[in-house]
Amino acid sequence: MEKTYHIAILPSPGMGHLIPMAEFAKRLVKEHPISVTIIIPSTGTPPKAQISVLESLPENIHHLFLPSVNVKGLPEGARPEILISFIMRSSLSSLRDALISLKSRTNLVALVFDMFGHDSMEVAKEFCLFNFLFFPTNAMVLSFTFILPKLDEETSCEYKDLPDPVKVPGSVSFLGRDLMDPVHIRTDEVYKGYLLLSKRLALLDGILVNSFEELEEETFRVLYTGAAGQTPIYPIGPLIQSVPSNEPNPHDCIKWLDSQPDGSVVFVSFGSGGTLSLLQIHELALGLEMSGHKFLWVVRSPDENASNASYFTASSETDPLGFLPEGFLARTVKQGLIVSSWAPQIEILSHKATGGFLTHCGWNSTLESVVHGVPMIAWPLYAEQHMNAKMMTEALCLALRAETDENGLVGKEMIEKVVKELMEGCEGKKISQRLNELKGASIKALINGGSSMESLSKFAQQLKK
Ligand code: UDP
Repeated sequence: MEKTYHIAILPSPGMGHLIPMAEFAKRLVKEHPISVTIIIPSTGTPPKAQISVLESLPENIHHLFLPSVNVKGLPEGARPEILISFIMRSSLSSLRDALISLKSRTNLVALVFDMFGHDSMEVAKEFCLFNFLFFPTNAMVLSFTFILPKLDEETSCEYKDLPDPVKVPGSVSFLGRDLMDPVHIRTDEVYKGYLLLSKRLALLDGILVNSFEELEEETFRVLYTGAAGQTPIYPIGPLIQSVPSNEPNPHDCIKWLDSQPDGSVVFVSFGSGGTLSLLQIHELALGLEMSGHKFLWVVRSPDENASNASYFTASSETDPLGFLPEGFLARTVKQGLIVSSWAPQIEILSHKATGGFLTHCGWNSTLESVVHGVPMIAWPLYAEQHMNAKMMTEALCLALRAETDENGLVGKEMIEKVVKELMEGCEGKKISQRLNELKGASIKALINGGSSMESLSKFAQQLKK
């Protein structure tokens, strides 16, 4: 009898890739006779958030940790992209060992990796495996990635100095300075790595995109009709964590939400790694207070140098509450709730008391908001979030923008204004309606016969070829 097809999934470090790739695995094994092993590169003891995702997986999804990579040789304070690329490169030989072992025990047919894992294509080739890229962000960023080789060829300056905006096929145009972080410094090794990925897109057996056709209709149309060349594109989203049912010990913030009126609370969170400066924390605190609206805010300790300082730990080493303005906690005791470092976001977004989401525009957070129909305020920090924010506000009507001033700060008056507009204003209502429609569309995409389920079936069919 033919053995069940088996695929290996290689997420790079960080929750933002592990979560959707684990959800992809769950959906795949539920719908198709395919089994999965998630191979996890590591640098030591895995963070709690990672363990809890892995422990929630069904029995037919296996996982294994690759031997720990020593990152001590890297310069102090190296950016997450540099660290992640280093960890992925240093894990290639142990990946090979893991694939040898899997190949001997299973009918291994494919390796799925994310944008930091494309060097593993060479290893996959040694085992005659299909190579699939899992694109954890949206079709717009993918469309940009397809045009990057040409943009690179035609441009001699840094993109931030380009006089004209860059038009992304099937989506909006971006000023060079708003393009994703990896392309900001063209002499940098991160840029070289991303450019190499963009050139390798044509060599892939397919690209799985965590988005859905109804959300980015025009961009997918453009990708299907030539922009992606011969590479099959599979929109299989929204892949988000499901809401745990009957949680026996709900988090305190969920109990607090239970006591708030429907749609009254603005949830404020900057993803798994987002950090603000001390001054920005103060402006945000005062702006939320001035808005008069209820809020639930996940606070991290400030970092003056990086906006993604907690990327690997998803937590703060010092108590973040000590950095709030004096008297703020006492004054807002009836208005808001502060959670330190990490909150059960999916449960919060699905709670009926949540009426708005001030987000850093990480793509997982955006999709989670779409699926639960929560209108957003866009406050991008790093990675491709500035591009997402522009698309969300200008093309898709999902969010209002929290504008920065000339010093790059979002002032308290701006925060007050944008929170009030989202929760009470006409623009907020329009966005709310749009979110309601998209919530319905996202549910349809994932039922039998829905666009993303059809895409997943096509992917499964390709494995059998
Ligand atoms: N998340 C969470 N609690 C938090 C912060 C983040 O559960 O306090 C989850 C969130 O629901 C999402 C992921 O972590 O699934 C963050 O991914 P996203 O792409 O939004 O941003 P990133 O963290 O990669 O910047």
